[in-house]
Amino acid sequence: MTISFSLAGKAALVTGANTGIGQAIAVALAEAGADVALAGRSEPAETLRMIGATGRKAVSIAADLSTIEPVDRVIDEAVNALGRIDILVNNAGIIRRNDLADFTEEDWDAVVDTNLKSLFFLSQAAARHMAAQGSGKIINIASLLSFQGGVRVPSYAAAKSGVAGVTKAMANELASKGVQVNAIAPGYIQTNNTAALQADETRNRQILERIPTGRWGSPEDIAGAAVFLASPASDYVTGHILAVDGGWLAR
Ligand code: NAP
Repeated sequence: MTISFSLAGKAALVTGANTGIGQAIAVALAEAGADVALAGRSEPAETLRMIGATGRKAVSIAADLSTIEPVDRVIDEAVNALGRIDILVNNAGIIRRNDLADFTEEDWDAVVDTNLKSLFFLSQAAARHMAAQGSGKIINIASLLSFQGGVRVPSYAAAKSGVAGVTKAMANELASKGVQVNAIAPGYIQTNNTAALQADETRNRQILERIPTGRWGSPEDIAGAAVFLASPASDYVTGHILAVDGGWLAR
C-alpha cells in the first residue's frame, strides 16, 4: 500500500495568503508539489517569491472578499491560470473585538460576511468545477471559537461556529462527488490577527498558562494539517474539524 501526501500536478487556490497562516499554507502546498493561485486584497509579493523558490507556479488574483461580488471571477481566474482547481483553502478572515453591550452592526456584518458568507459562496463556485471533475478538496480555516465562545468576539465566534456547520453540510452533499470538505481549527497562532492579544500582558499570560504545549503556535504549525487534508492521504476524511492547538481543547 502506498500512502500519498504528494500534491504533484494539483492546482490550489488559497485566500488571504499574503501573510500569516495563509502564506504558510500556500508555501507548504507548493512544496508538496501544487501550483498555487493566491486571492486577496493585498498584493502577496513575498508569498509569490517564496513559491517561486520551490519551482512551482504562483499567480495572484486581486479580490476583496468582504462581499461575494468577486467569487465567480476568482474561481474563473484560478482555473484559467492553472488549468483546473483541485484544492481550495478558505483562509481569509478578520476579527473585531468589543464588549457585548457596545458591539456594532458594522462589526457583526464585516466579520460574518468575510469569514462565513464569502467562504460559502467561494466554496460553492469551486465545488461546481470539483464535482464536474469528480475530485477536490475544500479546506476551511475555522477556529477554537468553532467550539467555544471566546472573549469579546461575538461575531467571530458566530462566524467560525458557522464555518464548522457549513463544512459538515458541504461535506455531506459533496462526498458522493469525490470532493472532501474539512476544516482546520488553529489554536493561538502568532499572526497579525492575534497581535493585540500577544501585546496584552495579562491575556498573553492567561493564554500561555492554558496551552499544554506551553507556547503560541506558528503559521507553519498549521501547514502540515493543510497538506494532509489536500492530499490523497485524506481521501476518507470528510466533514471533520481538525484542531491544531497545542492541546488547548484537551485541557
Ligand atoms: P492575518 O495574518 O491577519 O491574515 C488574514 C488574511 O486574510 C490576510 O491575508 C488578509 O489580507 C486576509 N483578508 C482579510 N480580509 C480580507 C478581505 N476582505 N478580502 C481578502 N482578504 C482578506 O491573520 P491569520 O491569523 O493568518 O488569519 C488567517 C485565518 O486564520 C483567519 O481566517 C483567522 O480567523 C484564522 N485563525 C487565526 C488564528 C490565530 O491565532 N492567528 C486562530 C484561529 C483561526 P490583508 O493582509 O489585506 O488584511
